[in-house]
Amino acid sequence: MTLDINKIRKDFPILEEQVHGKPLVYFDNAATTQKPRQVIDEMVKYYYKYNSNIHRGVHYLSNKSTDGNENARKIVQEFINAKHLHEVIFTRGTTEAVNLVANSFAERFIQEGDEVIVSEMEHHSNIVPWQMVCDRKKAILKVLPFDDNGELMLEKLEGLITAKTKILAVNHISNSLGTINPIREIIKIAHAKNVRVLIDAAQSVQHKKIDVQDLDPDFLVFSGHKIYGPTGIGVLYGKEDLLNEMPPWQGGGEMIKEVHFEGTTFNELPFKFEAGTPNYIAAIGLGEAIKYVEALGLENINAYEQELLAYATEKLSSIEGLRIFGTAKQKTSVISFLVEGIHFYDMGMLLDQMGIAVRTGTHCTETVMQHFNIDGTVRASFAFYNTKEEIDALYKGILKVCKMFV
Ligand code: PLP
Repeated sequence: MTLDINKIRKDFPILEEQVHGKPLVYFDNAATTQKPRQVIDEMVKYYYKYNSNIHRGVHYLSNKSTDGNENARKIVQEFINAKHLHEVIFTRGTTEAVNLVANSFAERFIQEGDEVIVSEMEHHSNIVPWQMVCDRKKAILKVLPFDDNGELMLEKLEGLITAKTKILAVNHISNSLGTINPIREIIKIAHAKNVRVLIDAAQSVQHKKIDVQDLDPDFLVFSGHKIYGPTGIGVLYGKEDLLNEMPPWQGGGEMIKEVHFEGTTFNELPFKFEAGTPNYIAAIGLGEAIKYVEALGLENINAYEQELLAYATEKLSSIEGLRIFGTAKQKTSVISFLVEGIHFYDMGMLLDQMGIAVRTGTHCTETVMQHFNIDGTVRASFAFYNTKEEIDALYKGILKVCKMFV
């Protein structure tokens, strides 16, 4: 099915906005995606009609909100094909989900001298929580490097794993390079050596179908706001047996079975890991967002975005002095670039004056920047509501900026 982009764009009210008197061209989708009316309307409906704290009430409104939250969990379960509903834990986002796993997993499974592996191309949120835990536990953080195309050096993975390696945390798709990592192979290599795997799918669930039973990660995490849902909601998928073995991370309401001053017993999954009032309205919004994406079809989305990527790569590559960082064979619709002699902030600010929103800086991947010995890049990231005409506008905009700097 080909996507009807004009029709789709009408679902996203923000795309009709003007910025500095120019039509908005939104190319900052890897940072966060825009929200369709369907998501916004459903959340507004809940605030207008049904808002009430969940799981604790016997009254109508509380039951409506509880049903909304649990229905969203079911939508997520089916979306990633988790075996059990209780393997889906709601968090505030990818960052919180990684912190939850890092802390809880380490508490149970990581001892002094043990090892954790991350890749050189991780977002800070999949490095720093592991670093903090390794410091606390006196464990060792090891790094799987990538090459100058931005492809992981998979041949080095087996050599990094030892009998002390407990977990490997790697992203499916790099937010700053666009590389699609061979996670199926990575999971197989790690599992063959009894190493657990966490997949950071923050940049992949919105582009590619994920089936956790088929792929077999031990944990998989993502954020609602990058898949056309609201901010403040994310998902931790974990295998039931592992999650059952792991202690709660945060204490509070909902995560308990019984509380006595002599000691507390904890709730069952998934509630054991969901302390306090959750962002149930956002969970409901996420459910709607997933329904929206599934109605378009991830295969159709991916095919169209690949078309945009190829078009933009060709156009931008023709600009003199422009270098693209991240030239992996398997890439998603992200282009990180620099133009010789032009600082990324200057490029970003001048494009903004033309109504074009791109991201500038390190994209929370300082180790990627260190690899290329640069301070940052300009990043244009495309979603299914973007068009080739908008890419033409970016191309012309970059040329205009280049002219200002000669
Ligand atoms: N991991 C990757 C690959 C990301 O791109 C991001 C956000 O940019 C994150 C993790 C963190 O996501 P959040 O800030 O929603 O927790």
